[in-house]
Amino acid sequence: MISAAARMFAVVALASLLACERQTPEYHEQLLVFGTVVDIKLYGVDAKRAAPLVAQVAEDFQYMHEAWHAWHPGSLGRVNQLLPSGETFAVGPSLLPLIKRSQDLSARSGGLFNPAIGNLIALWGFASDEPPTGPPPTNAEIRAVLDLKPAMSDVHLDGINIHTDNPVVKLDFGAFAKGYAVDRAIERLREAGIADAVVNAGGDLRAIGRHGQRPWRIGIRHPRAPGILASVEVEGDESVFTSGDYERYFDWQGKRYDHIIDPRNGYPAEGLSSVTVFADQADLADAAATALFVAGPKAWLPVARAMGVSGVMLVETTGTVQMTPGIRERIHFEVDELPPIIISEAL
Ligand code: AMP
Ligand code: MG
Repeated sequence: MISAAARMFAVVALASLLACERQTPEYHEQLLVFGTVVDIKLYGVDAKRAAPLVAQVAEDFQYMHEAWHAWHPGSLGRVNQLLPSGETFAVGPSLLPLIKRSQDLSARSGGLFNPAIGNLIALWGFASDEPPTGPPPTNAEIRAVLDLKPAMSDVHLDGINIHTDNPVVKLDFGAFAKGYAVDRAIERLREAGIADAVVNAGGDLRAIGRHGQRPWRIGIRHPRAPGILASVEVEGDESVFTSGDYERYFDWQGKRYDHIIDPRNGYPAEGLSSVTVFADQADLADAAATALFVAGPKAWLPVARAMGVSGVMLVETTGTVQMTPGIRERIHFEVDELPPIIISEAL
């Protein structure tokens, strides 16, 4: 005969089992690619269905990482080797759409996002696995590249053929390949019927759908302290990308030289420590974050409008935060003391 206590235990155990069964599954996996941790979350999908999908995404990412690497040997390396010859040659199929899309985004940014300045990036020592230590390049070295005005419009595509007459054009997709890859990952997940997911590449992400009853919640890194500066809820379909001077830089004689180069003067952009862009596509958000970082604290608004982004938050090197009105309504600061805030005109 079963005691009352045992019966009670059985009922409680059954109830919690049912609760477990009713709990919506959530799949979470971390990949190491693009030199960062890529965090993938799928809501409402069990591991049996999610794991092979995420494995495909991982394989795509690895392929893109190798093919588009700016200084390791690969498809882009071959293109960069052949471009200065001025000859026409066939470009790999994975690179064609990347080149076309970056031409469009570069034009919209007024050339502030300019993946043709690979030679300048290399001069500053940022095309290397080792963090640069300085010294900065000389004015003469910078001028030798700048005088020939490398631009994405110098790259001519005809079907699968490519050529340029500008010998200083060198392609570096470091400012937007991650965004482009995140878009492809979301595309792949959607094709497989996934409606609620986040692909977060080291804080740069695209989120679709919701996390069940609530939106996805994401953090925006503090540019000058460990941890996050603010959090924001995203749902539906939104990309959030941040460019910062803390990611790669070197100090030389008391001055910080960061990895985002102003194509107009060949020097690292100054004035901002981070730019976060909200947009409907990850590649646009990525390219725009870099472009607005170059534009700087006084000139970013027309560039944001021309590029068609939906929201912006910038942190000036002084600590002042500028935001578009829509972002101010959504953002929650996660710091003890609010920074000085400037609300910009609407986009
Ligand atoms: P992000 O972190 O997305 O702003 O990308 C920065 C990376 O983009 C740098 O490490 C360079 O490889 C590359 N880059 C730097 N300046 C520019 C620029 N003005 N336009 C395009 N790419 C750039
Ligand atoms: Mg970028």
